Amino acid sequence: MDIMKKLEVLTEGAKYDVACTSSGVGRAGNKNSIGSASACGICHSFTPDGRCISLLKLLMTNVCIYDCAYCINRKSNDIPRAAFSPREIAELTLNFYRRNYIEGLFLSSGIVKSPDYTMELLIQTLRLIREEYRFNGYIHVKAIPGADEALLRRLGHLTDRMSVNIELPSEKSLVEIAPDKSKLSILGPMGYVKNGISQAKEEVAVFRHTPSFVPAGQSTQMIVGATPESDNTIVHLAQGLYRRYGLKRVFYSAYIPVGGKLPVADPPLLREHRLYQADWLLRFYGFSAQELFSHEQENLSLHLDPKCHWALKNLEHFPIEINLADYRMLLRVPGIGQTSAKRILTARRVGTLNFENLKKIGVVLKRAQYFITCNGKMRERIAWRPDALEMKLTDNRYSQVSLFEKEPLWLSVKSSL
Ligand code: SF4
Repeated sequence: MDIMKKLEVLTEGAKYDVACTSSGVGRAGNKNSIGSASACGICHSFTPDGRCISLLKLLMTNVCIYDCAYCINRKSNDIPRAAFSPREIAELTLNFYRRNYIEGLFLSSGIVKSPDYTMELLIQTLRLIREEYRFNGYIHVKAIPGADEALLRRLGHLTDRMSVNIELPSEKSLVEIAPDKSKLSILGPMGYVKNGISQAKEEVAVFRHTPSFVPAGQSTQMIVGATPESDNTIVHLAQGLYRRYGLKRVFYSAYIPVGGKLPVADPPLLREHRLYQADWLLRFYGFSAQELFSHEQENLSLHLDPKCHWALKNLEHFPIEINLADYRMLLRVPGIGQTSAKRILTARRVGTLNFENLKKIGVVLKRAQYFITCNGKMRERIAWRPDALEMKLTDNRYSQVSLFEKEPLWLSVKSSL
């Protein structure tokens, strides 16, 4: 099979992995190597289905000895198979980099022969790229669940970011549809990488030339909609992963039917979007998973974003006076983001704020106006009831769209918490 055909097969196989968006590490070029990494992200592109991907995102091979029902590359799926050699990947990366097509590499792989054998191939590839071709740019690699810790350590010294995909939100689902994987084979490497990152940070504080270990941190991916777990389970799991393993990101991937025994349905893109919004609230807005759900409500609302939904359920905290509220409470107002909350605190030092000022600051008054007062006054008289407010806040822009029929949701939706 020629290289172009392999590229076609193996980039197609990689598009289902969403666990990469940006580099997350800044590193200047130097005279002994080529390339650099920018913290604001590697090169991005949009696939026809709307997913944001880095340009050189590929599988080393789509041959796999495992049979995960949600995966197009599972051994029981009858698809064309291909494999790159380590040198082919190294040359492709460097050639694409020199042509300015890419700024980094996201490398994943099916499992050939065994997890350890596959990890050896990944290490060999990265050593060629880093040591022989002296590529200093960004690399994100997928670790293979169940691989030996010594191999994880070697790989961790060569890559910027590593991800071990958790894939399914419960052990029960893992047993049912990915029987070759286990909770331990996924969480074990995550724990190892977390400890390795902490240790490297301590060592570098003492010895300047300590080799780096996964400097851009680790991330993971969870598939949404292939199994029956609720959003509550998914968001609680994500919270646990952030707290326990110090993950940089949890990526949510709406399940795209790939044949086999799993049900065929449109990918739940709106649900995926709501999960990203809830995730944002956990990471940057001081919310906990417990606050976003209740006994009666196991899933996030599809017509209200999670922050609006929380505010309507907790109306006793509102309206807040914009000239007095603290930063934590400002962040809880729908329509006020981190930047506008900080700007409000700064602007308050020189005078009292009114609604016009808030608009200039960047507050989305369309949502915020129902939850705030300026100098004791609300912007308009409205019925102060959850149902009346819900009517005002319902987000009609989003409807469940088919992934392939309409404009991709990712292109039309901007996170607007
Ligand atoms: S191990 Fe990875 S590549 Fe292989 S079937 Fe499972 S998800 Fe797909």
